[in-house]
Amino acid sequence: MRPRAFARLRTVGLPVHSLVVFLLSVASRLERKDCVPTTLSKKGDKNGQWFLRLSVDRFGDQLDITFVRLSRSDATLSAYDSREGTARLPLLRLTLEVELRSLGYEQPRKIYAVYYGGGSDTGECFGGSYPPSRVGNIAIAVVKRGTRCEEARNLVFSDGTHAIAVANLHEAFHTMGLVGRCAPHHNQESGGHVIDDPQDIMSASFPRALPLKFDAGRDDYYGHGNPACLDLASSPFLLPAPAVAELPPLWPVGAAQARACAEEASLRPEESAQRSGVVFDNMSNASIQLFQLTAQGRTLRDTLRPWIASYQGNVSVGSAWLAADASGNCLAIFVAQTSWTRASLRPRT
Ligand SMILES: [Zn+2]
Repeated sequence: MRPRAFARLRTVGLPVHSLVVFLLSVASRLERKDCVPTTLSKKGDKNGQWFLRLSVDRFGDQLDITFVRLSRSDATLSAYDSREGTARLPLLRLTLEVELRSLGYEQPRKIYAVYYGGGSDTGECFGGSYPPSRVGNIAIAVVKRGTRCEEARNLVFSDGTHAIAVANLHEAFHTMGLVGRCAPHHNQESGGHVIDDPQDIMSASFPRALPLKFDAGRDDYYGHGNPACLDLASSPFLLPAPAVAELPPLWPVGAAQARACAEEASLRPEESAQRSGVVFDNMSNASIQLFQLTAQGRTLRDTLRPWIASYQGNVSVGSAWLAADASGNCLAIFVAQTSWTRASLRPRT
């Protein structure tokens, strides 16, 4: 299914778009007020003076929300959220991102705030990317009733703000690259969080009650004035757009251009000192092999499960990558560019 076409008001800066993703069997009572808040005001600063306005997609005078039906069942999706050894792999977000990209939600200058109507009782309740460690465009909140995520789903702060909206905003901030590792109160054990105030919306243990604080002390992720560290105050996701806006690290991640398989024999790139990255999205129900082409020929780098992405970071600019089906038949070749790109992989039918 292709996304519905919306007439959108012109937005300034980069928009955050709310996507409500649910399955036919899940009755969703999600309302607009549950989605990404367009403003944050007077909830955090000790002087009650901070005011933040986000650029969001609008439909008329309302938040523009898209409803999406996925091709796979909740059971299939939740099975991605599994344990491997002692580490739980937060693959629900990753596989949702790949499927949403295949449906056309892949604009490289947009963040999609996703409210997923499924989810398992053991999997993640929230998730986001965190560039430059991990690039991506979706922030996810799991809203299924009857799971351990329900507590967060139902929490409403005393002023009426739905916690799930602020929590997904927390994930959207991660997806923008916040909190930077350079921040003085960065949580080294849990990347992207602050440790100086448990009421901060970017603390690892998300606050359960007001007051919410937003970069308490103004020294970690908003208005800190350190040009060497990412600052939300110069984010193009804000309104009004800052005079000098700074994209999240590694952004924008554009589409990788496929080269013909006939070039395999001639592509033997030399190692270059310049580094970059490519994300390979397996947009199919079959496994896909990913090879790097070197002087020796094909070297297997990864085998991609269905609907999962392979992140190849710190690769040589000009390096050549060949995607093949399980039998080794070439599907396409991609060459790493000076900036990160993202390749869509589909087997031949
Ligand atoms: Zn977090």
